[in-house]
Amino acid sequence: MTVALDPALLGVLACPNCHANLSVDYEAAELVCTSDQCALAYPIRDDIPIMLVDEARSTKPVKDAPSV
Ligand SMILES: [Zn+2]
Repeated sequence: MTVALDPALLGVLACPNCHANLSVDYEAAELVCTSDQCALAYPIRDDIPIMLVDEARSTKPVKDAPSV
């Protein structure tokens, strides 16, 4: 599965839950919130990011140790 997201689009998108920046997980076809406390992942369907908290799943990064 290949996701083709417009980088300009990604630049204007922000997490609707916490307004943090988003990063693209191409393998999972998700937009992942960069906030450690939020860490929601939004699905991308037909190259359209579904920016709805109700559609997002919670995903806590395991590779990053808490920095606080
Ligand atoms: Zn967020």
